[in-house]
Amino acid sequence: MKFVSKTIVLISLLMLTACSENTGQEKKQAKDSKSTQAVTEEKAQKIVVYSSRKEHLIKPFFEEFTANTGIDIDYITDKAGPLVTRLKAEGARTPADIFMTVDAGNLWLAKREGVLQSVTSATLENNVAQNLQDPDNQWFGLTVRARTMVYDKNKVKPEELSSYEDLADPKWQGRLCLRTSKKVYNQSLVAMLIARHGEVKAESIIKGWVDNLATAPFSNDTKVVKAIEAGQCEVGIVNSYYFGRLEKENPDISVALYLPENSEQGVHVNISGAGITKHAKNPKAALQLIEWLSSKSAQQMYAGLNLEYPANTAVKSIEQVQAWGELNADTMNLSKAGELQPAAVQLMDRVGYK
Ligand code: FE
Repeated sequence: MKFVSKTIVLISLLMLTACSENTGQEKKQAKDSKSTQAVTEEKAQKIVVYSSRKEHLIKPFFEEFTANTGIDIDYITDKAGPLVTRLKAEGARTPADIFMTVDAGNLWLAKREGVLQSVTSATLENNVAQNLQDPDNQWFGLTVRARTMVYDKNKVKPEELSSYEDLADPKWQGRLCLRTSKKVYNQSLVAMLIARHGEVKAESIIKGWVDNLATAPFSNDTKVVKAIEAGQCEVGIVNSYYFGRLEKENPDISVALYLPENSEQGVHVNISGAGITKHAKNPKAALQLIEWLSSKSAQQMYAGLNLEYPANTAVKSIEQVQAWGELNADTMNLSKAGELQPAAVQLMDRVGYK
């Protein structure tokens, strides 16, 4: 805790001075040091962030914000579920001002658990598209990630690909690779398919996927891309930035990205985002941070750092991402992904999607 240590240094310095003085002065000094401490506390603002985003994806932003505003930021990182549980358990005693995470499903959960608060911000309304924010303004998207297809350039022509729904067609039998249904990204994708098609049709689509699997689902998106590269399968579904990282490492990679915009809903997108906690001690500064994260300069940083799409449409994605084609994203409100997630989990279980 940076702030605490600074205060302690200040108090010890004042005490050291006081030691050479007599008792009367010592008392006065102690009094002075108390008031100095109070002033310092008022001036040195601090925000505490609970984040399920990885440290290397948040630290550069926090450092920049502190440099610009003098507001210190302390943070802890953990998985989204445990952080929400912790916020709930801490209740009014929580030190956290902001909850930051990936996937609208996780943000939706935080809202349902009552650990966030609604905010009014013209800046956020202006910077963040409506479908990327909670209808009650308890959370806001800060980056957009597309759940896209990837395919083997040597075996599949892009014209053969069209939609998520089409991957259920028997022509893909033994050619499809998927990540596990345990991952929230797939739960949100299936939830959005339920929102679009209803449960019966969504179930037949997901059953078709399972029937077409070349091998058991993988634990992460990178493994899906690598399995295609290794010839284990020909097509898969991954978040675009995972492919982007591998493409950046090896521009000659034999796998390409396809934006499944022929799906009835357009490309399934999700967000990373943030909300102010219900019991925030410093909600003003917390809002200042979230507003800044949605601004042009921070959005440009985001676009370069993790190959995501900016949530602020006034900011362009980087060239590598632009080269994948124009993103024709689903515009349905992402809170649906959270709402229908339990139904999605049950559906995937019913059709044997592990
Ligand atoms: Fe991810």
